[in-house]
Amino acid sequence: MTAIDTIKQLFYSQVVMVSLSDFNIRTGGSTGWINITSEVQKAVSASSVREGICVVFIPHTTAAVTINENADSDVPRDVDFALNMISPDRREFRHGEGNSAAHTKSSLVGPSLTLIVTNGKLLLGTWQGIWFNEYDGPRTRKVHVRIMGE
Ligand code: ZN
Repeated sequence: MTAIDTIKQLFYSQVVMVSLSDFNIRTGGSTGWINITSEVQKAVSASSVREGICVVFIPHTTAAVTINENADSDVPRDVDFALNMISPDRREFRHGEGNSAAHTKSSLVGPSLTLIVTNGKLLLGTWQGIWFNEYDGPRTRKVHVRIMGE
């Protein structure tokens, strides 16, 4: 190991913290929006990271995570309405489980988010919340949170 490698190792081991946090949620219906902002913020607070990056990842193929308005419940309803127009249930789908519309929505919305942590808090706009989107419930779902920073 070179001197530079030693310095790098010391730097990263002292400055960069990595926090691992996972939680489960039980979704109540076949579809639904579950606000997970407070759970993710709790993981950030517990990490003691003041400045850094927070990654939220779900290991699922018929659900998604997104950031959207946390005030008017018509917004989730309208987004679902639009997604159902983009990906309705179709007879032409071949997948034997019969949930291809849910798989399509999962890919459209996505399985992960990258968030900024500043002053020990998630940097979110006034109207932004972090949402878990169920497309094929009810199920028990897992959310992984990884926080890196100093
Ligand atoms: Zn399937």
